[in-house]
Amino acid sequence: MIRILEKWTDQIHLIVLKSEELEVHVTNYGCTIVKVLMKDREGNVDDVVLGYDSLEEYQKHDGYLGALVGRVANRIKKGHFVLNGKAYQLAINNGPNHLHGGIKGFSMQTFDYEILNDHSIAFTYYSKDGEENYPGNVKFRATYTLEKDTLKVNYEATTDQDTLMNITNHSYFNLSGKKENIMHHTLQVKADQFGAVDEDGLTTGNLIAVEGTPFDLNVPKYLEDCFNQTHEQLTIGRGFDHPFIFNRDHDQVILRDEKSGRELIVSTTLPGAQIYSANYLDGRLGKYGMHYYEKDGICIETQYFPDAIHLEKEPAVILKKGETYQAQTTYKFVVK
Ligand code: BGC
Repeated sequence: MIRILEKWTDQIHLIVLKSEELEVHVTNYGCTIVKVLMKDREGNVDDVVLGYDSLEEYQKHDGYLGALVGRVANRIKKGHFVLNGKAYQLAINNGPNHLHGGIKGFSMQTFDYEILNDHSIAFTYYSKDGEENYPGNVKFRATYTLEKDTLKVNYEATTDQDTLMNITNHSYFNLSGKKENIMHHTLQVKADQFGAVDEDGLTTGNLIAVEGTPFDLNVPKYLEDCFNQTHEQLTIGRGFDHPFIFNRDHDQVILRDEKSGRELIVSTTLPGAQIYSANYLDGRLGKYGMHYYEKDGICIETQYFPDAIHLEKEPAVILKKGETYQAQTTYKFVVK
């Protein structure tokens, strides 16, 4: 079942998608996931994502809580790139670099939306040539589908000029319902390598084998155990804030909270994810009067490799005119 829960403004609505197992609240402001309500082992319902109570807070804060991020998620070195011989300068909004699509990116835009049926809602956005200084008029569409315990997110984009595209969702998960932070969650990431970052969080292009490091999450690890280890990259990132390169094409990330029995299984068509342990949450006020501090949530930002435009020979983030960007990420919430 899908219905409008509240009209925040004439244009910006809060919509609820409901199944037996889950209730997902989304808004067409940044296609943001506002709430995910699910039961624990005892049948108690909690909200397992961080967020705010009002539109004003979503408009005011950084941190991208629950937001769709684009045109290009993560950092682009010095916000500068050359495409087809032409140089582009993007906003510098994170240290010396460009982050998450710029000042407003996609996260702070109002999307049109259409409820397609009982399970699916489609958000569309026309991003004009030159928006945030990226080239090309882009027709973008995100479809959120709730089927039983699974939220399926589909992204699609076309352009009339070659451009860059690397979309993610920036939900902060906390499967305890924020009864505690994420230190007692276990995390499994099926990856043999992760990308090193510099002091500004920018991926350097240096790939590190996870074996023998706190980044080896091929078997589930308590986040507390990971963070209690020493590794230069954990210090630089203040925890996890790194791209992992998947070694399989489904069920790549599993987050579990043993106490509540809640588990999140993420599957994606994308080759990797930035795993970010909310290292910069600053005590801001969120939903239910709760304050959010570092390690209060974890983001599983499925995406192409960060700064691919500089680091890859044939950057996967280039969307060519006439081609379609397509990606799908599913979030399966189970209790066991
Ligand atoms: C980045 C972090 C950043 C956060 C919020 C993450 O995707 O990797 O470094 O602080 O987004 O902006």
